[in-house]
Amino acid sequence: MPPKEGKKQENAKMTKMDEFLPSDFIRAIIDEDLKANKNEGRVATRFPPEPNGYLHIGHAKSVCLNFGIAAQYGGVCHLRMDDTDPTGETLEYVRSIKQDVKWLGFDWQDRLFYASDYYEQIYQYAVQLIKEGKAYVCSLSTEEIRKYRGTLTELGKDSPYRQRSVTENLDLFARMRAGEFPEGAHVLRAKIDMASPNVTMRDPVLYRIKREPHYRTSNQWCIYPMYDFAHCLSDSIEKITHSICTLEFENNRPLYDWVLDELKVECHPQQIEFARLNLSYTILSKRKLAELVEKGYVTGWNDPRMPTLAGMRRRGYTPEAIRNFCERIGVAKRDNIVDIALLEYCVREDLNERAPRVMGVLHPLRLVIDNYPADRREEFECPRHPQKPDMGTRKVPFSRTLYIEREDFLEDPPKNYFRLAPGREVRLRYAYIVKCEHVVKDRQTGEVVEVHCLYDPQTRGGLPPAGRKVEGTIHWVSAAHSLPAEVRLYDRLFQAANPSGGKDGDFTKHLNPKSLDILKSSRVEPSLAAAVPGSQYQFERLGYFCIDPVDSSREALVFNRTVTLRDSWAKTAGQEKK
Ligand code: ATP
Ligand code: MG
Repeated sequence: MPPKEGKKQENAKMTKMDEFLPSDFIRAIIDEDLKANKNEGRVATRFPPEPNGYLHIGHAKSVCLNFGIAAQYGGVCHLRMDDTDPTGETLEYVRSIKQDVKWLGFDWQDRLFYASDYYEQIYQYAVQLIKEGKAYVCSLSTEEIRKYRGTLTELGKDSPYRQRSVTENLDLFARMRAGEFPEGAHVLRAKIDMASPNVTMRDPVLYRIKREPHYRTSNQWCIYPMYDFAHCLSDSIEKITHSICTLEFENNRPLYDWVLDELKVECHPQQIEFARLNLSYTILSKRKLAELVEKGYVTGWNDPRMPTLAGMRRRGYTPEAIRNFCERIGVAKRDNIVDIALLEYCVREDLNERAPRVMGVLHPLRLVIDNYPADRREEFECPRHPQKPDMGTRKVPFSRTLYIEREDFLEDPPKNYFRLAPGREVRLRYAYIVKCEHVVKDRQTGEVVEVHCLYDPQTRGGLPPAGRKVEGTIHWVSAAHSLPAEVRLYDRLFQAANPSGGKDGDFTKHLNPKSLDILKSSRVEPSLAAAVPGSQYQFERLGYFCIDPVDSSREALVFNRTVTLRDSWAKTAGQEKK
């Protein structure tokens, strides 16, 4: 997939997105609905996360889709906490979800809702179903319910409690609410059809007892509605028009419609399913991500190796890059796995535009210029961006002793090595051409610890006099003027392209033991002294880095490598085209 034209303008202005947005089957449905004046021409979508974890890049796809559609059609998009299961839901997750949606660039204005605010209404709807003989209290155990349900090839069997009278059901349900029964004693079930070819429709559970405090309603309730009951009703209460969800809910759509039809609600939203995002080398399941956090495989939900928006933000990914990625992958009806290289490509593309250039040396090797006066210091005025003069310049000090990248020197280089080696010349970026004269080695290990060079004063600014050719340019920092920095290099968190593997496979066995490499003695140019946490830079020749917003301080700089410079995605794309 080659990059599309016009991408940059598109990024710059969210408001102009509609002029460029590709159409997809969901937008096609909405177009038809608008033509038919369905919903009086209204478009209302929602993004309904359960606050039991941080948002990940898969959620970003859904956020971009729902908020994007609302913006494109002049509609609204609600942010709704789908918080009907007290287990694992917390205020911290609510806070993080709000922060991440905002950071992505979307605004729900005053449309933040909580399914837990609808508990009373949803309860009353359940009572209505009971009164109409469409729901009953079932006292089978969870295990028995499962057995009675049957399978795809085997019909279900009626519960012995299916014929309870309305009066008895109303009484039992009220007492369930009042807390008279222990967990598991009873559930409320819809009375639909135990012989339905769709297993979801075989008298699904609508309510269960859970004696756990809820992060918002505390101990007010001890019965909680199931997703299939709460979700459609929340959509209806909020007058959503298009309820967009992922494919695994396709079988639940008849139930979504059954509930709303039987209750004859005023607003009956349309559920539309699309394929969830799967990314290679990545896990996108909140449960598994939570396990990584709980078991200490990562430092937290915002570990820069995590596919969470908090992790990506900390790593230096930009919202523009993520939105761009979400747009490129599009929306389809069939499951597939997107190459993570496409995401990295989008990050690189965006940072290439916006990240100021600096020089930093990850693995320093001392370089001494023997014919440069020891007490002299020069400053080079270097552009912050080679193609954007309006981004200005920064001053980079130069002196007799510098640091260069260890891998930019080889004692015994192959022929096509265009960096520094004994007797060879190289250009120090923005500065002078130097020639390596000799090296100093560690007596014990034999390792080169210092490279001695002579510089040519005629080549100031790195320009060789006419007729002279110097192939290589390397980056450097002045030893005395540069700042020490810790640099964290990240690699993929998983080694396997599909770490989720089989259903019960242990995904942690695919963890990449080399996913984090911490360099403690890197050096960066002094212009970075005033850098703001979270800001992104291109370290020339190395990649994109950002100042760690959590651990970095003025006294002790910490950089995260966001992504390398090399564009491995372009290669892959090239191969695919052949
Ligand atoms: P997970 O499987 O990671 O636990 P979830 O579906 O349980 O995700 P929710 O909080 O319920 O998490 O998700 C909120 C919304 O985001 C839902 O509408 C869901 O369909 C959507 N969503 C979740 N994961 C993805 C994904 N990988 N791609 C696209 N949309 C997703
Ligand atoms: Mg879910």
